[in-house]
Amino acid sequence: MLSEKKAIITGASRGIGKAIALLFAENGADLIVGGTNASLLDALCDEVHAMGRQCFPCAGDVADPETAVRLVALAEEQFQKIDVLVNNAGINDRTPTLELTHEAWKRVLDINLNGTFYVSQAVLKHMAAHGGGSIVNMSSTASKTAKSNAAVSYGASKAAVNAMTRQWALEFAPYQIRVNAVCPGPVLTDMSSQWTEEYRSNVAKSIPLGRVGAPEEVAALTLFLASDQASFITGQTINVNGGSYME
Ligand code: NAD
Repeated sequence: MLSEKKAIITGASRGIGKAIALLFAENGADLIVGGTNASLLDALCDEVHAMGRQCFPCAGDVADPETAVRLVALAEEQFQKIDVLVNNAGINDRTPTLELTHEAWKRVLDINLNGTFYVSQAVLKHMAAHGGGSIVNMSSTASKTAKSNAAVSYGASKAAVNAMTRQWALEFAPYQIRVNAVCPGPVLTDMSSQWTEEYRSNVAKSIPLGRVGAPEEVAALTLFLASDQASFITGQTINVNGGSYME
């Protein structure tokens, strides 16, 4: 589905981002992979090389605009083009509002919102000058509804990601750039690994399909949206959540 395509994936070192990277490679894409842990990125690239695809690590904090510059420069140097961007890097912070420090509030917005903006702005510039592309933003159910296990900074950052998704879809449609967001419900990754067994079982019971999701199930939707199979889909925020939130 991504034969001959060149993709940048942020937050690819583990969890959902890693599942996306492996599925993209399986489907023929060559990759630039971002994240904060250089050795995990090197290990991911070894796995991708073994699948016969190219993979270049680019470690860095997406909250620093320089990281976006380096990601795009590496893609231009190695591939001369960028067909797909997945803005997957993100953090959660479940601190209740009255206990949330201003620093912690800003850190979530800096990574989830500003990081998505910096990388997208750099990639949109490239895609607009090179005939188009597809961007998939990793949002969350928390962008659309309140949940007792969610928190204000995370939901606010992901709602802003949805707003950017729609705005860029409109602004860059004339350049044949599609922009969509994926909104996962609870998925088992490091982000959810601090859950107790009891909490996980309660979360699973609250989901109509009776379980939490797997990173590969989020990757499957991301692959579809990134690919030409989704050529008439743009500006959408699509749920993958076992029915836990329905629109
Ligand atoms: P994870 O914690 O397992 O992985 C997060 C990834 O983001 C890692 O590769 C990490 O290195 C990277 N990252 C974190 N901070 C970064 C920074 N400052 N700069 C660059 N990279 C950074 O999390 P995950 O569960 O795989 O989450 C991936 C995405 O999916 C996030 O955007 C998250 O908000 C979203 N999401 C997750 C769930 C879930 O239940 N796990 C649900 C909805 C949405």
